[in-house]
Amino acid sequence: MSLIQLIQSNVSLRFFTTFGIAASARFYLHVMEVAQLQQLNQLPELAGLPRLILGGGSNLILTRDFPGLVLHIALTGRGRVNEDDQFTYVRAAAGEVWHGFVQWTLTQGWGGLENLSLIPGSVGAAPIQNIGAYGVEIKDCFHSLSWFEFATGKIHTFTHADCQFAYRDSVFKHALRDQGVILDVTFALAKSWQPKLSYGDVAQNFHDIATPTPQQISTAICAIRQEKLPDPKIIGNAGSFFKNPLVSAEIRTVLLTRFPQLVSYPQAAGQYKLAAGWLIENAGWRGRVLGRVGVYQKQALVLVNLGGASGAEVIALAQEIQADVRRQFGVSLEVEPVLI
Ligand code: NAP
Repeated sequence: MSLIQLIQSNVSLRFFTTFGIAASARFYLHVMEVAQLQQLNQLPELAGLPRLILGGGSNLILTRDFPGLVLHIALTGRGRVNEDDQFTYVRAAAGEVWHGFVQWTLTQGWGGLENLSLIPGSVGAAPIQNIGAYGVEIKDCFHSLSWFEFATGKIHTFTHADCQFAYRDSVFKHALRDQGVILDVTFALAKSWQPKLSYGDVAQNFHDIATPTPQQISTAICAIRQEKLPDPKIIGNAGSFFKNPLVSAEIRTVLLTRFPQLVSYPQAAGQYKLAAGWLIENAGWRGRVLGRVGVYQKQALVLVNLGGASGAEVIALAQEIQADVRRQFGVSLEVEPVLI
């Protein structure tokens, strides 16, 4: 079948994003091979149309129908590509399910990604926002990635430095946004593995185990996440809806005098990270509902689709929360998922 025959029109995206908002794509391609991406520029029907890259759809909020071409990345494959004295190098194609990949590394006996267990989404989406949980970010185990550039049709290798990783951020959210597709990601998993148990919820599980295994840590983290976070297969959501804001030491001191229970953690350069979930909960939003969208009862950082929510309703609730947190605490919350 030719590429143009594989491209579908007016496809519903509702079940392709974890928030489950009803929206459609003017054109849609389920990308199974890199060659399909290379042929796109030869199709005059698609010239000039915007492109949206979809992986697991766990960090995307659709607020309207998409007027261009949605590329649903379904490239699969994973394996060990190399090793040296210090690291085992493993590579996975962009369409692999992140949690499945993490579980595979653990069954092979390679630790490093266990704290990132059960994060929804695909391998290809993971570097874009430098996914992180329980004191680990993918930048900690990242080696390199392959990136297909739409304009030239070339495949480039990106090193750690090229990706410009930061807190839930990378170059793929800025200068390279919508410019190409991550094809695969390679991780360097340290042979001298050390557990990362700095987060309270995780540490509590291991106070009587001196050296837990990566698999034990993964199992504990899965249980913590399942207890606190809604399963997107049951309740539509996009994980943490806001980033944790960074403030100066002076602002934190002022806030602490008014709110002694404020949850904050010291960061580089004398700044403090405030727990966005604490701010939202203490502004009184936990469990509140606006239209068909709500703030999750067990975790105020997560907004949930109560059934048939529209993108406009999600934005309305997010903006009300932002305005209220700013009014009560003087702190701005930045939305974490990508809004289309
Ligand atoms: P939690 O453990 O109740 O902690 C609340 C916040 O405080 C977290 O956002 C976390 O920041 C920060 N924190 C807690 N312990 C810390 C420590 N020892 N050092 C530095 N910062 C600390 O949070 P939670 O909402 O249940 O989330 C647990 C973890 O899962 C967090 O790392 C969170 O980011 C992660 N998570 C990630 C996603 C995502 O990637 N989309 C979705 C849901 C949850 P950090 O967020 O900076 O770690």
